[in-house]
Amino acid sequence: ISKIGVLTSGGDAPGMNPCIRAVVRTALYNGLEVVGIRQGYKGLIDNDMYEMDRRSVSNILNLGGTILKTARCLPFKTDEGMEQAYQHAKARGIDALVVIGGDGTFTGALRFSRKYPDIAVMGVPGTIDNDLCGSTYTLGFDTATNTVIQAIDKIRDTADAHDRLFFIEVMGRDSGAIALRAGISCGAEAILLPERATAIDDLIANLKEGHMNKKSSSIVIVAEGDKNGGVYGVAKAVQEEVKNYDIKVTILGHLQRGGAPSSFDRILGSRLGFAAVNALIAGESQKMVGLQANHILMTDLEAALNHHEFKLEEDLLQMMDILSI
Ligand code: ADP
Repeated sequence: ISKIGVLTSGGDAPGMNPCIRAVVRTALYNGLEVVGIRQGYKGLIDNDMYEMDRRSVSNILNLGGTILKTARCLPFKTDEGMEQAYQHAKARGIDALVVIGGDGTFTGALRFSRKYPDIAVMGVPGTIDNDLCGSTYTLGFDTATNTVIQAIDKIRDTADAHDRLFFIEVMGRDSGAIALRAGISCGAEAILLPERATAIDDLIANLKEGHMNKKSSSIVIVAEGDKNGGVYGVAKAVQEEVKNYDIKVTILGHLQRGGAPSSFDRILGSRLGFAAVNALIAGESQKMVGLQANHILMTDLEAALNHHEFKLEEDLLQMMDILSI
């Protein structure tokens, strides 16, 4: 290979910038050229790309978001869109792509590379949701979880001052990974996860018991993908049963995606970007680089997309109930 195109696609995640930086500098170190593609697959279709040098990625380690911008690009799902993307990539001399994103991004990369195998693709797991197989952690998950923890600690202060019960919705789409870790870290009285059924009756009984045991505040974390009616639905169901509680609902929303990447995400982004370029140089394609047992390993993109294989850690699930009593 001689020229790598790099893009960020789908939902943005803190740590994408350190990864872009590593891709650019590792490629240049190895005598390759690098093209930055703006707004994910949209930049390929619209021919919105630029040559990158060492200085293009100066002072970005500490920035959240992505300097390449990201987008959801529906035309890339069509044959015409893919063809246009391919023609623009070829015209630029791009023969390999590093795509940083989540499952949608990988689905697109795999389809593209099967259609046009002369362009190699390497995926980097970049999503705060931590829902990909083949990497224990995805880029952005650690920073987002820390952001959630800081926010919930603040809510705990005011909940405590007023003896209130808070229902807090956190992000993660169909994954409860952020909810689980934030819940354990903040001592939430209950954590509602899409991966695990929660009986609302039990939740109400536990909250009542906590109230009788003179807990001065209660925090219930509800994952965005909750199947019990969402944060408002659950709060309403509880309020109907326990009229004497002062219940508040907070949706943390997009603040969870922003902010400077944590140390962990800066290192992870750097490692994965470095590994992705080295894998492409070694002739690999249609794979994802990921972190497993603190080693960088590759997984077939197809396997990485296997959502139902993804599981939350059993010991954390067991612990969350025991420690919250
Ligand atoms: P994420 O990568 O965070 O999961 P999306 O699901 O929005 O985010 O996917 C990002 C982009 O990947 C989409 O906007 C689209 O351009 C591309 N993509 C997703 N699914 C496909 C598909 N089946 N075929 C081709 N491209 C796809």
